[in-house]
Amino acid sequence: MEVLRHFIDGEFVESKDGRRFQNINPATEEVIAEVAEGGRDEIDRAVSAARRAFKEWGRTPVARRSEILHRIADLIKERAEELARLETLDTGKPLQLSRTLDIPRAAYNFRFFADFVKGLGTEAFQMDDVALNYALRRPVGVAGLISPWNAPLFLLTWKVAPCLAAGNTCVIKPAELTPTTATRLAEICQEAGLPDGVLNVVHGFGPDAAGSALTEHPNVDLVSLTGETATGKAVMRAAASNLKKLSFELGGKNPNIIFADADLEDVVETTIRSSFANQGELCLCGSRVYVERPLYDEFLRRMTDRIASLTVGDPMDTGTDVGALISQEHLLRVEGFIERAVEDGGRILIGGGRPAHLKRGYYLEPTVIVDVDRYCEIVRHEVFGPVITVQPFDSEEEVIEQTNDTDYGLSATIWTTNLKRAHRVAAQIEAGVIWINTWFLRDLRTPFGGMKQSGIGREGGVHSFEFFTELTNVCVKL
Ligand code: NAD
Repeated sequence: MEVLRHFIDGEFVESKDGRRFQNINPATEEVIAEVAEGGRDEIDRAVSAARRAFKEWGRTPVARRSEILHRIADLIKERAEELARLETLDTGKPLQLSRTLDIPRAAYNFRFFADFVKGLGTEAFQMDDVALNYALRRPVGVAGLISPWNAPLFLLTWKVAPCLAAGNTCVIKPAELTPTTATRLAEICQEAGLPDGVLNVVHGFGPDAAGSALTEHPNVDLVSLTGETATGKAVMRAAASNLKKLSFELGGKNPNIIFADADLEDVVETTIRSSFANQGELCLCGSRVYVERPLYDEFLRRMTDRIASLTVGDPMDTGTDVGALISQEHLLRVEGFIERAVEDGGRILIGGGRPAHLKRGYYLEPTVIVDVDRYCEIVRHEVFGPVITVQPFDSEEEVIEQTNDTDYGLSATIWTTNLKRAHRVAAQIEAGVIWINTWFLRDLRTPFGGMKQSGIGREGGVHSFEFFTELTNVCVKL
């Protein structure tokens, strides 16, 4: 059986105490690897290595850093099929999705930031003939990068690429449920010529373990986390030790607002994706669907017909639409949300149970719940599974008020052919990312991130570099 080790200062190593944990394939419930379980010792060693490496890497010419990042992108592309298969074994997501989204995006993240960094400028202000101010941009230092399990390599590289492009070094703490592709990334970085110590990977758990050791560490300068809102709060407390710079991409309870004048065919196809892609385990999934009343019944009829045609099953099968949830614990958690929704008066329109034909694996049918109101737990809390609620609405004002009645503010989707209304509603929805008549379409130059308890800061284009660099103003008397 494969053993996944930490990657510290250019070497693959076990934990000092030899501890390991098991990695399980959620589609088969089989153990697929043993993973070194890191703690404070491994984090200490990794942070020291990153600190040493920062001296050189922070001063390496941008053109050289960019070249290495491009090489990493090339190697991800060369190993794309292997990485896609590993990602699917780890997560339970359809292989087709790993092949077409996760792995290509991981390569593109490196390519994009490798190019972007070369055009990165700063600002200058002349004070008449008295003085000239210019801002110097420099890397911050050692970054702690903490990633979730739902799109492991995609989301990890979204942090690693700008972090390294800017000249920082890093210690990565991958999600404990999906440690495989982060380990392969370490191999790839080494092969691409990234100097030892610039990128380190420590496997292990979050609270009172490798994760918290990293966020508390006095020699870590900044932390970028993608994870749950509760984790963001814990990391923020830990990071207070030395006032680390923080960037958080956290949970969402995203509204999908459908006006009666929308193109229904397009709405249904996209809503199927925005609800059930990646088993609904995407922070951007639109789990609260609001439909203008004249369209409500027709929308539900078309949605249920379309859901009935989805294939839930073996993620390795290229005909599969919905794979397995990440773990048994998570499956039980999602089922708990469904049970309580029914206790709250909700009605399951379709789905709600485990598919009868699948005897092993953590599968759940795509589920639609109706007859709920804004106070139900299922409408207020992030479920992070293939479960949506659908509610009718009567006016623009009402739907705006309802969608904003949440602690989250990650993304929203608006469906209407009325252009004025689309812009008017977008300006009033409290979310960091808003789509009009589409979903998940991303230009990596644009700001990405959440309002309210969905995050802190923005990533993408120059926004990523604002986090991963420091500015010093130099004032020269003329
Ligand atoms: P999680 O918060 O449980 O774990 C994320 C990472 O944080 C893991 O590596 C975990 O080990 C680590 N961690 C947990 N507790 C920690 C602690 N106290 N200190 C340090 N590290 C700790 O999240 P998850 O279950 O892996 O992922 C699902 C969540 O991520 C959902 O809420 C989802 O919405 C969110 N997410 C957000 C985005 C976004 O871009 N906003 C993208 C993907 C996922």
